[in-house]
Amino acid sequence: MKIKATFLGGAGEVGKSSIMISDNKINIMLDYGVKLQEEPVEYPILPREKIDVVIPSHAHLDHSGAVPILFKRGEPKVIATDLTLELSYLLLNDSLKISKKRRERLPFSKRDLKSMMRNSTPIRYRTPKKIGGIKIELFDAGHIPGSASILMSKEKKIFYTGDIKMKDSRLLNGCSLPDKTDVLIIESTYGDKKQPKREDEEKKLKRYVREALTNNDIALIPTFAVGRAQEILLVLEEFADFIAIDGMAKQATEIIYYYKRYIKNSEKLKKIMKRITWIRNMRQRKNIIRKGGIVLTTAGMLGGGPIIFYLQELHDNPKTKILFSGFLVEDTPGYNLLKTGVYSNEEMVGEKNNFKVKCEMHRLDFSAHADREELLNIIKKLSPKKVICVHGDNPKKFAKDVEEIFNIDAFAPKIGEEIVL
Ligand SMILES: [Zn+2]
Repeated sequence: MKIKATFLGGAGEVGKSSIMISDNKINIMLDYGVKLQEEPVEYPILPREKIDVVIPSHAHLDHSGAVPILFKRGEPKVIATDLTLELSYLLLNDSLKISKKRRERLPFSKRDLKSMMRNSTPIRYRTPKKIGGIKIELFDAGHIPGSASILMSKEKKIFYTGDIKMKDSRLLNGCSLPDKTDVLIIESTYGDKKQPKREDEEKKLKRYVREALTNNDIALIPTFAVGRAQEILLVLEEFADFIAIDGMAKQATEIIYYYKRYIKNSEKLKKIMKRITWIRNMRQRKNIIRKGGIVLTTAGMLGGGPIIFYLQELHDNPKTKILFSGFLVEDTPGYNLLKTGVYSNEEMVGEKNNFKVKCEMHRLDFSAHADREELLNIIKKLSPKKVICVHGDNPKKFAKDVEEIFNIDAFAPKIGEEIVL
């Protein structure tokens, strides 16, 4: 029986990841995310078919942010790790709160989100579950806590990496992989990019932080709430007494610690969590600005969250350091700030939303994605007959390279394209 994949989003782009896997009995949705960097926010194509099961690979909104939309007209089952379900709820609920504040309407409601949670079943890594004749098994993807790659077996083995990282980080072990697979659907964010050495990035980060602390200045570290914030905490362990954590990064850190079996060294994280300052109110924020220290806060690309308060307060001070910790999507306020030196955010109303930033700025790369070499190693290890490249700025180029290197079929589908696997 033929199994086909329809690429509803995340094909030839980073954002709104979504792949529908179907045979004639069942439709499984792998990820259903949003593309936040677009204005207005973009969503994947709405499938005509009835969806039976949704499997969000991990909690990042570009993979999970549109899942509640599927509950507008049905009640599919949701399968994911327990931590992915919990973190997705945190982030989706926050999206609802933000849209209410901005008086925007999301294409889903709190009721849809609740329906999604009600229909959710957590499963563990390496614990196969049979759905409509297809065996589903999750593998640790090493990308963020709880992240999974998805193996589907019927006559063929189909493996979807989701976002994946092969090398260990401070927070996580690298991914685990099945033995072999027939079809590999692989992310290719860094398909043509090399990443700097992690040790070098850590050294640089520590050097900048030390400089700021010596002079009682502020080191402002914008971060993603899930994964990156905890990684930075571990990297900056020796400075824990000087770190203040703010925004959504706080709840995410607490949740991730609660699900500690997903992380490499929970005892170390616990010790750090006891030493840092948890910002709960404006008085504490003003206090840290006066005293100096390290501020770790959301949002990573400066689109919202308490980072904006700190920028508004500190933008005139050339001694403040702003240390970006990873990839900045084009046209986000963070990307534009680094490029032009001006912070501009049209989504903020009634607040100071356009100003020159005189702070010292650096971009470091603590990527949680596999780089080109790791991606090629994943392909080598799984020795598939067919490779499908998604989630990247130029997956076409990567697919061509894969074809040449391994002498196998490789494609980079377009949005809406259907491929027989
Ligand atoms: Zn991700």
